[in-house]
Amino acid sequence: MAIKWTCPYCNRPCTVGKDDVRFVSGRNYIAEEYGSYHAITKVIVCPNPECRMQTISLTIKKTNEYHHDHETLYHWNLLPESAAKPFPDYIPQQIRNDYEEACLIQDKSPKASATLSRRCLQGIIRDFWGIKKGRLVDEINELQDKIDPITWDAINSVRHVGNIGAHMKKDVNLIIDVEPEEAGLLIWLIETLLTDWYIQQHEREQRMSGLVKLAEKKKQEETQQENPTDT
Ligand SMILES: [Zn+2]
Repeated sequence: MAIKWTCPYCNRPCTVGKDDVRFVSGRNYIAEEYGSYHAITKVIVCPNPECRMQTISLTIKKTNEYHHDHETLYHWNLLPESAAKPFPDYIPQQIRNDYEEACLIQDKSPKASATLSRRCLQGIIRDFWGIKKGRLVDEINELQDKIDPITWDAINSVRHVGNIGAHMKKDVNLIIDVEPEEAGLLIWLIETLLTDWYIQQHEREQRMSGLVKLAEKKKQEETQQENPTDT
C-alpha cells in the first residue's frame, strides 16, 4: 500500500507506505435499535524527516450483521485542527491569521469564514499592490490592468458567486449568508494568490540575488586568475 499524500503541516507531497500509517480500530455495539458502530482512528506520520508530524482522523461506520464495513456515518479530521496550508512568515501576519481562521471555521460557520476571507483578500490587494479604495469591488477593478488576465478573471468570477459577489460592493466586514462550498472557493482563491504573488515574487528575488552573487564570485575568481599575486 503506497498512496500519494500531501502533508498538511509541511505541505510536502510524498508517498506514504504502510510504515507511515497506523490504524486503531474499535468496535462498539450500541443498543440493538441503533445497530453496531465501528470507529477507526487513522494516524499518518509524515515521512519527511524534518517534519514527522502526526495527522489524525476518526471515521465512524455503521456495520452490517457480518461486521463488514457498511456506510460511513461521520468523518472528522482531528489533527491538524485546520486544513490551512502553512505559508511563510514574509507574508504579513494579519493576512495569515485571517486565512488560517477562515480555514478553521469553513464548515462550522461558512459565513464567518467568508467574512474573514473577504477581509483577507482585501488585505492582500492592499498590501501586495498598494491599492486602497475603500470598497473591495473598486479595488478589484483597479487591479485589472496590473495583473495577468487569467488571475484577474478568477478573482472577478468570485464576484458572481452567490452572496459573496452580491456583497462585495459593501463593507468587507459585513456578515453575509454563504454555503460552505462558497467559503471554500474563497479560501482556494486566497491560497492561489498567496502562492502566485508573495511566494513567486520571493522565490524570484532569491534566485535573482543568487545569480548576482554568483556573477560577483566569478568576477572575483577571474580577477584573481589574471592577477595571481593579488590576495
Ligand atoms: Zn510533513
